[in-house]
Amino acid sequence: MISVEEASHLIDQNSLPIREIETLSVSSSLGRVLAKSLKAPLSLPNFRQSAMDGYAVSLHKDLSYRVVGEVQTGDPSNIELKVGECVRIYTGAAVPDSANAVVIQEKVKRIDHNILLETTPKAGQNIRAIGSQVKAGSLCLDKGQLLNPAGLGFIQSLGIESVEVIRQPKVSIIVTGNELTPPGSPLEPGKIYESNSTLLKSALQQKGITPQLVTQTKDTLEGTQAIIEKAEQESDVVLISGGISVGDYDFVGKALENKNVKTIFYRVKQRPGKPLLFGQKDTTFFFALPGNPASTLSCFYIYVSPLLDRLMGLETTGLNRMKLPIAHSYRSDEPRALFLKARVQNEKVQILDSQSSSMLISFAKANALVYIPENGLDLKALDPVEILLLPNGLIH
Ligand code: AMP
Ligand code: MG
Repeated sequence: MISVEEASHLIDQNSLPIREIETLSVSSSLGRVLAKSLKAPLSLPNFRQSAMDGYAVSLHKDLSYRVVGEVQTGDPSNIELKVGECVRIYTGAAVPDSANAVVIQEKVKRIDHNILLETTPKAGQNIRAIGSQVKAGSLCLDKGQLLNPAGLGFIQSLGIESVEVIRQPKVSIIVTGNELTPPGSPLEPGKIYESNSTLLKSALQQKGITPQLVTQTKDTLEGTQAIIEKAEQESDVVLISGGISVGDYDFVGKALENKNVKTIFYRVKQRPGKPLLFGQKDTTFFFALPGNPASTLSCFYIYVSPLLDRLMGLETTGLNRMKLPIAHSYRSDEPRALFLKARVQNEKVQILDSQSSSMLISFAKANALVYIPENGLDLKALDPVEILLLPNGLIH
């Protein structure tokens, strides 16, 4: 049995970013990762822009200026100002070359064709200089940058229509168990409604990944092998839920072995999720996730999600970690590391009830996992505790 840290390290060590590149339209690239650093084809702004509604002045010592015209946003700025002259101007409009400051209209008294200022403006004030955001020809976004809405807007503001991004990982989900019934069918004695497929599919969706294959198999060695073989052919990552423990009908370990999947690790010193297996065959990775729903999801966030981040070419992988004060005292002397469902509110961490790995109710209300290292901790109220922030948006 290995530690949480060793398991994470082995995942990192055995994986590399996907090399294949796709060209996508900017508007279809949300949540994707830049495959190449991006060079700005033009400066932003690429002309001197007024940052305010007001008057663009050609500075002199006096506080009064003669208004000789107007530049509306979108117009060219071909008005020539003499010293002591100004033009009416608006936010985003091109500042005439001969103007050297913009005075906001709230600080101006207009009398017919003249304005009176309160103080002498500073040269360059309220003017967005050419290239002040980015200069033409410079590298503006690095390879490995995750594209968020602002990133897409920024790229589009450079006039770029398509970007080169890393191909998304192809992921398959297999759920195992004779007891599993799809919602909508009547529940026969001894059966339960299947939930891990939706749970994993949704966790993938939050990373912008739609699984290639979502399928189910009974607890048989042949059935499990057949579905593993099919999933392997179409996936970079295969997620299998259930059947990896020590029961007589847990066939996933044997099926992976028979299909020549090399085990990188099996069993992690943690709760939930001890019987986790991570393996590899050629370029396909396999996670056999313990079937209890909270174990499946914890293992997804702690191990699967960082692997996907790595395959996607992200620089930093996995959930954001930080230390925050715990709202109450907490004590554990468990030899295994714990991941506890928790809620962060008002910058304090509250560990929730119902921590059993068979229960999802606390996970449904959680926005963080508390990490308690091996051999436990004895915490007083307001002591710092390490948390992993759960994703709350649709992507990352
Ligand atoms: P296993 O890991 O196969 O021993 O399953 C552990 C527990 O998780 C059992 O109570 C299973 O019924 C339950 N379980 C396994 N797979 C699923 C699933 N896909 N949806 C809901 N519960 C599951
Ligand atoms: Mg099972």
